[in-house]
Amino acid sequence: QAKSTGRGKAVKYEISMDDERQQRVLLEERLRHALQHSEFEIYYQPLFSTMDRRLRGFEALLRLRDDDGYLVPPDVFIPVAEEMGLITAVGEWVLNEATAFAQGWPGDLTVAVNLSAIQFETGRLVETVRNALEASDLTPSRLELEITESLLIKDPANVLGQLLELRSLGARIALDDFGTGYSSLSYLWKFPFDKLKIDRSFMLELEDADGKPREILKTIVALCRTLNLSVTAEGVETNEQLAALRELQCDQSQGFLLGRPMPASQIPSFMMSISSEPLSATVKEPLVG
Ligand code: C2E
Ligand code: MG
Ligand code: MG
Ligand code: MG
Repeated sequence: QAKSTGRGKAVKYEISMDDERQQRVLLEERLRHALQHSEFEIYYQPLFSTMDRRLRGFEALLRLRDDDGYLVPPDVFIPVAEEMGLITAVGEWVLNEATAFAQGWPGDLTVAVNLSAIQFETGRLVETVRNALEASDLTPSRLELEITESLLIKDPANVLGQLLELRSLGARIALDDFGTGYSSLSYLWKFPFDKLKIDRSFMLELEDADGKPREILKTIVALCRTLNLSVTAEGVETNEQLAALRELQCDQSQGFLLGRPMPASQIPSFMMSISSEPLSATVKEPLVG
């Protein structure tokens, strides 16, 4: 009996299970330890206006460093933190940390924080966000809360109520990874979104010769205009993609071409580097982190 490890290798089922169980135990210990000793880190990835390439804000992306100093990807440790029930405390830490940091940014730069479905089940999310806003003194409209579609399917009435409360605090709500899950277009007007983030899988197909993905994107942008939603493209990696997004008049762009997620300590020099250069320089000479 063989099982894929996800790295393209097929190994004996027994070995794989042992290995997985051991990895899992180690990861759980690592997570508990990291929470107790404040060893999580937040990286920040910039978002830009597509049309004038102006910096608009950053998305907070959680990082965990393993004992060897390597970063464990959130796609690996967040599901485990959710199962362990740790995500509530970790999510609260991210909210406090990110709002406090963003309060010191110039102008009206925004900070986006990803929320887990589990945080909506605790009944404490609204209070946690209110506390973070009060403690940081961040203008509430500068906080964007990102959620994914999967959350909306589970308990729509409960989620809707909390989203409305979060919005009445002044925070903005973004629908993340749009176009990947079991999207129902009715979500777009049944829930109070301010922003829609188009999943990066669309970017990969944007350069397709037959032009259909581009037509679909055009339709999504038009739909967002109708619904008064701002629209952001994720995963912009090439100048061709950025040019296409400009043609579509997509509001904001985020991706490795424009800036990689970076530790908080690099943000000041990143801001300096883009404010002292002509706006187009961020595109012609992509910053690599
Ligand atoms: P997301 O919210 O969709 O975040 C965007 C992901 O795309 C990030 O991965 C980012 O590094 C990556 N990315 C950005 N630009 C590009 C690009 O041009 N090309 C490619 N290939 N990738 C790009 P990351 O940081 O590994 O995060 C993965 C996911 O983990 C996030 O997806 C989000 O769902 C989740 N996550 C991250 N931080 C948190 C957090 O604090 N709380 C919760 N609940 N989830 C989080
Ligand atoms: Mg996100
Ligand atoms: Mg996303
Ligand atoms: Mg994602």
